[in-house]
Amino acid sequence: MMTVTITVHGGAGEIGSSKILIEDKGHDVKFFLDFGKNFEAMRQYYDFPVQPGSLDELLRIGATPDLPGLYHLPESKEQPSTDIDAVLLSHAHTDHCGYIPLLNRSIQIHMGECTRYVFEARLQGSRKRFDTNIEGLEIKTFKTGKKFKISGVEVQPVHVDHSIPGAYGFIIHCSEGTLVYTGDFRRHGTRPQLTQDFIDAIQEVGSPDVVLSEGTNIAKAELTREAEVRKQIEATIEKCRGLAIVDFSEVDFDRFRTMYAVAKATNRELVIEPRRMWMLSTLNKCSSLATPSIPKDRAIRRYDREKKRRSTYEVLLSESKPPLSDYEGRAVKSAELRAKPRRYLLATSFGSLSLIQHVKPASGIYLLSASEPFNEESEISFDKLLNWLTLSGLAMYTAHCSGHVDPLGLRQTLEEMKPKVVYPIHTENPELFKHFIEPSGIRVIVPKQSVPFKLK
Ligand SMILES: [Zn+2]
Ligand SMILES: [Zn+2]
Repeated sequence: MMTVTITVHGGAGEIGSSKILIEDKGHDVKFFLDFGKNFEAMRQYYDFPVQPGSLDELLRIGATPDLPGLYHLPESKEQPSTDIDAVLLSHAHTDHCGYIPLLNRSIQIHMGECTRYVFEARLQGSRKRFDTNIEGLEIKTFKTGKKFKISGVEVQPVHVDHSIPGAYGFIIHCSEGTLVYTGDFRRHGTRPQLTQDFIDAIQEVGSPDVVLSEGTNIAKAELTREAEVRKQIEATIEKCRGLAIVDFSEVDFDRFRTMYAVAKATNRELVIEPRRMWMLSTLNKCSSLATPSIPKDRAIRRYDREKKRRSTYEVLLSESKPPLSDYEGRAVKSAELRAKPRRYLLATSFGSLSLIQHVKPASGIYLLSASEPFNEESEISFDKLLNWLTLSGLAMYTAHCSGHVDPLGLRQTLEEMKPKVVYPIHTENPELFKHFIEPSGIRVIVPKQSVPFKLK
C-alpha cells in the first residue's frame, strides 16, 4: 500500500522555498502545503533589482517544480487541466506564499484571515508582474480550531506563535493516517500559548504518523526574548545623540509594538515608510491584534521621500477608505531628519535599503532587529548594507527575538507531539536535527528534494 505520499519540492535541506506536495490516493486528492519563493535561486541567478522575467525562467533555474498544469498561463483564457486541488498556506512570509500568484486558477488557496490581509496588502502595492498578479485566484479563509475538508481530507488548522501574525500549524487527517505540519513556530515569543494550543490539539488526536517539522535554528539559536529586545534597544537609543534607524520586518507585529513603545519611552517620534504604513493599516483589520490604530495615532509619522511620482503605497494610503486622518500632516522629510535627528526613530526594513541613500544622516546608529536568515524575506546582501552604513557613519547594533523555536524547545515539542516519524524541513542542517533529536527515541528521516515518501 502506498495510499498517501509526501514530496518535498522545496524546503529539504534549505530555509525557505517551502513547497510540500501531499497525495492521498484514498481520497483522490493532491494538495500543496505552502508554495513559497525560492530566495536562494534568486540570489544565485539575479542581482537585485534584476528579477526573473517569466515563469519559464523560474522553471529553468529550478526555483519551482515543473508539474503538469500546475501554473497559470496568462495568455490563454482557459486554465490548463491539473490534478492539484489546493494549497494550504501556513503563514504570509514570502518563503511560504511567494509563488502562489503563479498557480493555476482552478487550484483553491486556503489561508487564515489575517494571513489573507497581509498576503493581499503586499501584492496590492507591488509592481504588476507575472509573479505578483493574483487576479482570478480563489482564496478561502479558515479560523483556528475550525476543521474543513479538501475533498475527503480533513484539515485542522491551529494557530502558532511566530514572527508574523496569523501563523498556523496543520493537523491533517488523511485516508490512512495523520500528518502534522508545524509551519514556522516558536515557544519563547510573546504568545507561547498559541503554540501550546497546537501541541494540545495534536495530543488530543494522538500520536501522528508523520510530523513535518521546521528546524531553522537547530545549529544556531538566539536566546533573547521580546521584552529583553525592548530593554536593550531602549537603553541604546537613550544614549544615541544622532539619528536612530531601526531595521525590522514589516510584518513582525510584536517588533512593531516594541519599537512603538521604545519611541515613546525615549521621546522620539516613530517614522515609518509608506509601505510599512500600508501593511499596518491593513493589519488594523485583524481584530485579534492589539495594535496602535494607524488612522488615529498621530505619534506614528510617515517618511516622505519627496519623489516626483508617488509610489503605489503612497497612492494606496492617500486614497485609503476610511481615510487615513491627516495623511499629509504626518509627513517627515529627509531634511527634517538631518536637522533634528534626536527627535526621530526611523524604521526601515531590508527591502528599502535605499532609505539610507536618501536620508544621508551625518551619523548615528543602525539597529538591525531582524537577524532571521535572509532567505526568508530579503534579496539584498548584507555586504551592501555594511557599505552604506560605513559611508553614512552609522554604527550597527543587533537585537532580535527569533521567530523560530530553539533546539531544546524543538526537542520538547517533538517529545510532546509523540510522532512515529519526523521529517526535518526548513533547515540547512537536517543531519544535526536528526542527531540531536534521535536520542529522545524519536525516529528522524532526512527527506530528499522531490523524492516521494510514504505516510505509513
Ligand atoms: Zn519560513
Ligand atoms: Zn516564517
